[in-house]
Amino acid sequence: MRKFFIKPEIPPALERLHEMAFNIWSCWDVDAQRLFHRLDPVRFREVNHNPVELLYTLSSQTLDKAASDKGYLYELEKVYDKYKAYMAYEHVPQKGDAAYDFLVAYICMEYGLHESFPIYSGGLAVLAGDTLKAASDMGIPMVSFGLLYKHGYFRQRLDGGQQREEYPENNWFLHPVREVFDDKGAPVIIQFKLKEDDVHAKLWRVEVGRVTLYLLDTNIHQNASHIRAITNSLYDADRRQRLTQELVLGKGSVLAMRALKITPDIYHLNEGHTAFVIWERFKELMQQKGCSYEEARHLIRHSTVFTTHTPVIEGNEHFAQDLVMEYLAPEVKDVGLTMAQCLALGEVRNDKQFWLPAYALRHASHSNGVSKIHAAVSRGMWKDLFPGSHEKEYPIDAITNGVHLQSWLSLQMTEIFDRYIGIDYLHAADQADLWQKIDAIPDGEIWNAHRRRKEQVIGFIRRTFANMSCRRGYFNKAVDVEHILNPDYLTIGFARRFTPYKRAGLIFSDPERLAAIVLNHKRPVQFVFSGKAHPADQAGKDLIRQVFDFINKYPVEHHMLFLENYDMNIARHIVQGVDVWLNTPKKPMEASGTSGIKAGINGVLNFSILDGWWPEAYNGRNGWAIRSGCSCGDPQNINDADANELYSLLEREITETYYSNADHGFPLPWERMMKESIKTVCSGFNMHRAMREYVVKCYRPEIATAKKLRTEGGLHLKKAVNMQSEAVAAWDKVYIKDYFTSVDGKLPVSGQKVHVDVYVFLGDVDEKRIAVEALYCRGEDRAAFQKAPLTFVERYSDKIAKYSGSFVLVGTGEQSLSVRFVPADPFFAELYPEFRKWKS
Ligand SMILES: *Cc1c(COP(=O)(O)O)cnc(C)c1O
Repeated sequence: MRKFFIKPEIPPALERLHEMAFNIWSCWDVDAQRLFHRLDPVRFREVNHNPVELLYTLSSQTLDKAASDKGYLYELEKVYDKYKAYMAYEHVPQKGDAAYDFLVAYICMEYGLHESFPIYSGGLAVLAGDTLKAASDMGIPMVSFGLLYKHGYFRQRLDGGQQREEYPENNWFLHPVREVFDDKGAPVIIQFKLKEDDVHAKLWRVEVGRVTLYLLDTNIHQNASHIRAITNSLYDADRRQRLTQELVLGKGSVLAMRALKITPDIYHLNEGHTAFVIWERFKELMQQKGCSYEEARHLIRHSTVFTTHTPVIEGNEHFAQDLVMEYLAPEVKDVGLTMAQCLALGEVRNDKQFWLPAYALRHASHSNGVSKIHAAVSRGMWKDLFPGSHEKEYPIDAITNGVHLQSWLSLQMTEIFDRYIGIDYLHAADQADLWQKIDAIPDGEIWNAHRRRKEQVIGFIRRTFANMSCRRGYFNKAVDVEHILNPDYLTIGFARRFTPYKRAGLIFSDPERLAAIVLNHKRPVQFVFSGKAHPADQAGKDLIRQVFDFINKYPVEHHMLFLENYDMNIARHIVQGVDVWLNTPKKPMEASGTSGIKAGINGVLNFSILDGWWPEAYNGRNGWAIRSGCSCGDPQNINDADANELYSLLEREITETYYSNADHGFPLPWERMMKESIKTVCSGFNMHRAMREYVVKCYRPEIATAKKLRTEGGLHLKKAVNMQSEAVAAWDKVYIKDYFTSVDGKLPVSGQKVHVDVYVFLGDVDEKRIAVEALYCRGEDRAAFQKAPLTFVERYSDKIAKYSGSFVLVGTGEQSLSVRFVPADPFFAELYPEFRKWKS
């Protein structure tokens, strides 16, 4: 039987509400939220705050009543004006800035736009969603691509601590997503081949403020059943299924852009899953634009930005080469390479695997990690991909994540910000001086706002808990819902994916000690847990059990609980309503982490291992740091040391500060820390700041180079490619024979000038074709890296040439020096980092 859905007639007076419901803007704007909430608060909660489902499932009486309610219509008009003003915002370049005169295509496997739109699993998606929202706020032209999953990610049920997965089917007609039609009114369907199969992918669109997100869907009748199944669910554990998803995402996105006549300047690939975009672009540039392989490679490298998120090599997406070959072999002739050459582009250390991030890193002239630590770890991890470059030059920069403030701030904090900061932060939260105004907020206001939110959130937690436990026994003992969590008590949140590196078990290392902390009479502590384990991750599931085991064993059932089915709704509530946000990853495995940022902007104090974003924010006054042992030590010792530090801080500093309300009726020292947290986290870790960095560090430099490549009708590019074919043969023979410095064997002092002589064997290469440089490097800092150019002095009869120069020593301590040569033509040198040879 065919099912169909009949939507109600929306009264004309509510047409503007209907229009706004189809823009995700109405899911993050507090005034729009209030408008939907007001229609039917209970129903709004039942539909997980989905504005479209609300409108389409309310009775016509309810709609008619609102349509004739003058007060409601007045509010509707006000919100609609705000919406129109938002949509019409134009970025006005400030000093030292330029117009955003480019288009970015952003591609990702998952997007976390809102709790009711289940095409996300965790942090990667939330970051992608916040990216689109921030681009929209700032007026950065962006369009994005992803997949529309029939079931999305799973829904978690917990039976006595045992995780069960359910895959409800999404009904897209009840979501703010619409089919894309062409000029003739026919649905847009992209077609391509995967091996011998014809694939048809239908396009849907979601409006995220001013950014459009296009989603590909293979679940349509034109496809064979195994092709329909490709977009079934997110992060399928089956390797072939996963590979075909990523092929559909990569190829489909590029083909969709062409069908829609979208020609981006930048392809921003978010995480390795998206790397097949590059493959499809090679095909296009070579088959349709007549480029040679080398030309296509440069055009791609200077229009691709890649963001990596995974600091352990095995966690990065990879497939057996044989499997990848099955799908790429039929097209390999189209990209001008042999199969072996193609596979080599995804290989690291001859391991017969195809690593998607390696393929992307090799084709992006700008890549980034998502915190300073993570970028440094990534440079080390992928060093084999950049021979000839110094580690500090590897093109993996740090752009630390941020969050979209409006999506994560509580209503209470939003009201305070609107009053004390002004509304400038809506489009430009990255102006650091805005946030200094936090200091001027009178004592007690932030605390009171937080306290009101905390009470609401505890209400939410009790309701959610009651819904879970009325269906069946939850803990193996009775729990009185009305007595769960006391708003007067220090409350700690821990919610994230349950996966071993995040170490949800760390706090349970010494159960007796933890129970004593929780049940302390004078200074009790409460905990809220939530999180999903990937269906194939047994160790993650065991960590969930561990929380339940503790609650079953100790009399803590009113102080500690686990909310099932962690999603953006639960996340939003608890990052706003607890007092402390606990984060205990194994360093350096947390690339950035964003839930702590969401907490920090709400004045919830971070209590975290110094990993990911936290070392960049922590200043001793805005939260607490667990310094964690050296990451190379014995794992058990590190765990014990971290757990010990965690307990000690809780037993003393954290509880003492929280319960220090003797003089003011509220803990003033705690509120001071909340202000410091809001100030530092809002100013440094809002998504606008991160987007601005993407523009300045990645998009603009690539666009500038791409422009040079195209000058004189592409002659510049052709010239470089010709130079390359000449250079290939000659370059191999050139090498640095030796070098000497004026401080060899001496103990130089800071400020001293160092003279360097380098002897290069040139063979038949002209001495003007190479440039020799000394690389002087002090300490860990990436910026403290200096290239001193050396000049040609003379050429000897044995084909050896001398180059000399000098530089000045700065600072003290251990430093390093190496010399190398690169092509003398700066543009050629920039395009061909592989033509670098050095001697340490
Ligand atoms: C923010 C968020 C995450 C990411 O949290 P991390 O601390 O970075 O792991 C995961 N899931 C949901 C639902 C979120 O809202």
